[in-house]
Amino acid sequence: MLRGWSVRSKLRLGFGLCIVLLLSMSALFYSRTQELSVSAALLVNSHESILHLKTLERDLELGNLDPQQVNRQLERLLDLSEGEPKQSERLQRFRDLVRRRLRSSPAEKDLRSLGNELEAQVELLLTEERSLLQARQEMLAYGSENNRIGLALGTLGCALLMGAVAGVIHRDLARSVQLLVQASHQVAQGDYSSRLSVEGGDELSAVGVAFNTMAGQVQAEREKLLEAQSELRASNLGLEQRANELQQRSVERQQLQQVMELLQSASTLAEAVKLLGPRLSRLLPSGSGALYFWNASKTMLELSGGWALEDSVEGAFPPEDCWGLRRAKEHVAPVEQPELRCSHWGPQGEGWYSCSPLLAHGEVLGVISLAYPQAPQDSLVSLLRSITEQLSLALANLRLRDSLRQQSIRDALTGLYNRRFLEESLQRELARAQRRDQALSVVMLDVDHFKRFNDTYGHEVGDQVLQAVAEYLQTAVRGEDVVCRFGGEEFCLLCPTLKEPDLSIRLEQLRQGMEGVSVLFQGERLRVTASFGAAVCPDHASEGSQLLLLADQALYEAKHGGRNTFRVSASPIKAGPVGER
Ligand code: GH3
Ligand code: MG
Ligand code: MG
Repeated sequence: MLRGWSVRSKLRLGFGLCIVLLLSMSALFYSRTQELSVSAALLVNSHESILHLKTLERDLELGNLDPQQVNRQLERLLDLSEGEPKQSERLQRFRDLVRRRLRSSPAEKDLRSLGNELEAQVELLLTEERSLLQARQEMLAYGSENNRIGLALGTLGCALLMGAVAGVIHRDLARSVQLLVQASHQVAQGDYSSRLSVEGGDELSAVGVAFNTMAGQVQAEREKLLEAQSELRASNLGLEQRANELQQRSVERQQLQQVMELLQSASTLAEAVKLLGPRLSRLLPSGSGALYFWNASKTMLELSGGWALEDSVEGAFPPEDCWGLRRAKEHVAPVEQPELRCSHWGPQGEGWYSCSPLLAHGEVLGVISLAYPQAPQDSLVSLLRSITEQLSLALANLRLRDSLRQQSIRDALTGLYNRRFLEESLQRELARAQRRDQALSVVMLDVDHFKRFNDTYGHEVGDQVLQAVAEYLQTAVRGEDVVCRFGGEEFCLLCPTLKEPDLSIRLEQLRQGMEGVSVLFQGERLRVTASFGAAVCPDHASEGSQLLLLADQALYEAKHGGRNTFRVSASPIKAGPVGER
């Protein structure tokens, strides 16, 4: 604590007190000296009185008394005894006696008695004067001693006073410097709140105030620096987070891009959905998702694919069960509002749910439903939206492509694959059969006397006959078989792994099955038969065109064999144009 008077004030006070002390001492010495002077004068008086008295004593003894001289001496003695009333009184009596002695000429006897009395008086005066002398000498000695002691004490007092002032100043200085050093150390060690307690207005207090101001500024600067550092750190952290987020977004965009490229390369919707599941699972970890598309009759939404789905998730649901479909826009059920969750999710636990319809050209294709244990961040929600948008677009394109492809590979009248698809499929199936070292049968089928239907009942009935044949063939073949309309009223079947003798059995079954195909025209049931010709790879040929040629030749033989029958080719190829029947 820096407090008290200033050093200058303390010094002033010290010097002031010293001067007061010295002045007091000087006054005392002066008065003492005066007293000593008086004492010294009295001492001299005593000596002189004794001298006069001795002279008078001797003159009295000798009887040699000069009246004038004796009177002078007596007057002088009276002057000298001033201040000593008793001695003065004695001297006056002595003077009276002496004057009696000088005036009268007494008798011998009275003279002797007067002389004795004078001697006794002189002796008494001398004794008293010596006593006075003794007392005055002692007083003078005592006064001198007192003066010496006073001087010594005064000097000592001054020295002690100055020492005390110096001590106080030193103590204050040392304590203040120590406090200053301590506070400086604390500041140096990082305690910027360290302050000195300042009281008063001395020089040390000014140093304390200056130190406190400096420490305050250092603390303020330090706090600003820390604040700036903290802001910088927060800013760096923010930038780092932003960079990480951007990187994450970039990775997600890349993955999304890859998903979209995959979707583009998928040839069918089913294939696309199959591809989507695992990829969306990687893109949207920690959540689960489901893709629903309309069923064929467009009455229910069927689960086409998904990831991390719980068993409680519905495999199919009517559109009313989904808020996303009902509102035709994204529907979110936040964690805290489970009542907004669509019922097709089943009785799932807590979490965040969203259902977004997959829209393309204003038409709802299906719905993508997502579930997260916690509410996803905004960035993820935005990613989900872009996935949904991209998915809708890609699925719409795929559907369009699917539809165009279907149009390009399907026969419009019967819905069967067309000749173009047959040629593609034949190459693919042949390659597969050869790779697997398996057989492949090619069957050509021609409706018997079909021209008559057209001619007798009209072209439309002819079309109906063709549709009835196609319907039958689709139900009659195995799943792996390919049924195509080759052209006109001719059809072609590709039957992997089928060869003799099963081939003939199958051909017979088909022939008989065709006999069951009919078309109702004006109450009349019009029956249909067909002829079949078949060739087998690798038994008859290994190339597609050769197999088709051989099958056609066999069909030709079946026609010539009376129709409603079948023939299997016999290797090698016989020459002859296709379709000459
Ligand atoms: P065969 O028993 O020898 O095969 O006699 P066919 O009458 O069945 O054979 P033909 O080649 O003489 O007649 C085929 C007819 O099929 C000729 C053509 O007008 C008709 N046709 C071809 N395509 C269609 C079609 O899409 N619809 C209808 N209604 N008729 C078709
Ligand atoms: Mg024909
Ligand atoms: Mg025909």
